[in-house]
Amino acid sequence: MRPAVVAANWKMYKTGAQASAFFDTLLAAGPWTGPTRLVVCPPFTAIETCVAKAKGSPVGIGGQDCYWEPEGAFTGQVAAGMLKAAGCGYVIIGHSERRRLFQESDETVNKKLNAAVKEGLTPILCVGETLSDRDAGRTEQVVWSQLTYGLDKIPADVLKGFIVAYEPVWAIGTGRTATPEQAQEVHGFIRAFLAKQGAGVDAVVPVLYGGSVKPENIEALMKGPDVDGALIGGAALDPAGFAAIARGAARARPA
Ligand code: PEP
Repeated sequence: MRPAVVAANWKMYKTGAQASAFFDTLLAAGPWTGPTRLVVCPPFTAIETCVAKAKGSPVGIGGQDCYWEPEGAFTGQVAAGMLKAAGCGYVIIGHSERRRLFQESDETVNKKLNAAVKEGLTPILCVGETLSDRDAGRTEQVVWSQLTYGLDKIPADVLKGFIVAYEPVWAIGTGRTATPEQAQEVHGFIRAFLAKQGAGVDAVVPVLYGGSVKPENIEALMKGPDVDGALIGGAALDPAGFAAIARGAARARPA
């Protein structure tokens, strides 16, 4: 059975001191997870604090992005190996804000995924359509294209270590959540795509939903058989909210 995964994307929020306070509250709220895997992805500058605070807890730490070169004259970039050395186990790649605001393409996403894998990080690959794509009936085409070119030449055995997040762009930070039916429809499509990669990839890769997830809607969203958890922005900045979402996921997907 695939593990449920609840992952926080803090985006450009929280200093080290704020991250430390978050963990004090979060860890005091446990145990809450059941078999759910928890991940927190802070800004680079709070990673070391989060790794130290999460030590011995069920919370893994991830980066929000990485560069594909291992080192060099790339001002402002952070290599996958640097995240690994700082104690990260995960990295988000291809978030829609990176694609939209920083011109990331499926080609750069593919390079970053390869770099992450090489360093032993678990990539959380984000895909999802804009509102105009959805309105034009292009949702599956967009998601297919992001998966096909993002995962180009990545062997099935390697794909088995991935996490995929379906994040409809129109639902991110807007308060507008996909209905459980809309989420399941695209998750089912992603599952079928993964099945075609062979080696039983579809049975083991968690597919998370992202887009205005809250404690109130996590259980309904996870009723979809292909919805294995969530990637959460806004609601995961609050430790009580993040813990409540984790509890909801554990109820939706018990051992
Ligand atoms: C995200 O940033 O990945 C996200 C899903 O944000 P929010 O939960 O705020 O919509």
